[in-house]
Amino acid sequence: MAHKVCLIRGDGTGPELVAAVEKIISTAQVDIEWIEVEAGLKCVEAGKPIVPEETIAKIKEIGIGLKGPMTTPIGKGSVSPNVTLRKKLDLYACVRPVRSLPGVETPFKDLDMVLFRENTEDLYAQIEYMVTPTVAQSIKLISEFGTERIARAAFEYARKHGRKKVTAVHKANIMKIADGLFLRTCQKVAQDYPDIEFGDNIVDNQCMQLVTRWKSYDVLVLPNLYGDIVSDLAAGMMGGLGVAPGANYGAKCAVFEAVHGSAPKYAGLNKVNPVALLFSATLMLDHLGENQARKDIEGATEAVMGRGIKTYDIGGSTSTTDFADAVCAELKG
Ligand code: NAD
Repeated sequence: MAHKVCLIRGDGTGPELVAAVEKIISTAQVDIEWIEVEAGLKCVEAGKPIVPEETIAKIKEIGIGLKGPMTTPIGKGSVSPNVTLRKKLDLYACVRPVRSLPGVETPFKDLDMVLFRENTEDLYAQIEYMVTPTVAQSIKLISEFGTERIARAAFEYARKHGRKKVTAVHKANIMKIADGLFLRTCQKVAQDYPDIEFGDNIVDNQCMQLVTRWKSYDVLVLPNLYGDIVSDLAAGMMGGLGVAPGANYGAKCAVFEAVHGSAPKYAGLNKVNPVALLFSATLMLDHLGENQARKDIEGATEAVMGRGIKTYDIGGSTSTTDFADAVCAELKG
């Protein structure tokens, strides 16, 4: 029976990336019934909310979604569609694997880490207001409940995947109350996992250590804002946003999406790299129990990249569609 998956094509370069991924998954002969749902700028232009309630309801019903990137108007207008989806579906665990890929030249060899970013709290709770006409305030919301579940997700993942160490990232030296609670809660959860080494780092030091001693890190767990920033740093270490995948998990739903945004200046140019969204989709295949298809697609993609077939962002000149066709040809053998 076909797996049902909700599909959001997204804004900017989203539709062309989604088309490439659909083609590759179909070539790998995974039986998926894509259920298209709407969200993003098109909805706003049609006078609807940026993420309509029908979209939330459908993803809740089906339980799984694949999402192209969406554009968020900066500084004014609609709320972020991405933050809205994560909050309304309670997708609390944003998981971002970081690894070296063939054909991608970077100074960071043998990268192999997984970032667990808390996805619903922190400064992304969107509780902000003007205190006076010239002073703004934004609330950093950290709860024991929210921290405990992301920390537990990180430790469970480490145990399941044979990883050795979890590092909590914080700024508890300055934000002694909010980040102090985050750190104390991670320390408490760590006591339930004596088989996994636990450490912690202040976020600024963590950034420096990631680019100097990246092999010392395995699984990182971070509050929302540090997780957002550090995962783009880690994406850069992998070779850029074009190759950095991600997944958002909740207790009832999961939505898979690349780390990158809608890269609107490249929209319609058939230029951008589909690997980040493709490897987000292979995380989805794993979630669906299609482990062989995941291995086949990742293997074919890496073989193609290893032969120097790659898009502009990682030093090649292959178009989005030609890259997808090369992966499909590799899959067909
Ligand atoms: P972006 O990630 O869209 O693009 C930044 C740059 O990264 C691009 O100009 C391009 O050089 C490169 N890049 C991104 N994706 C690439 C790909 N697949 N292949 C090759 N190069 C790629 O970030 P931005 O320009 O700051 O944001 C554009 C819009 O996307 C904004 O509205 C932002 O809010 C939104 N956004 C959405 C998501 C999401 O949907 N999850 C995430 C981040 C940003």
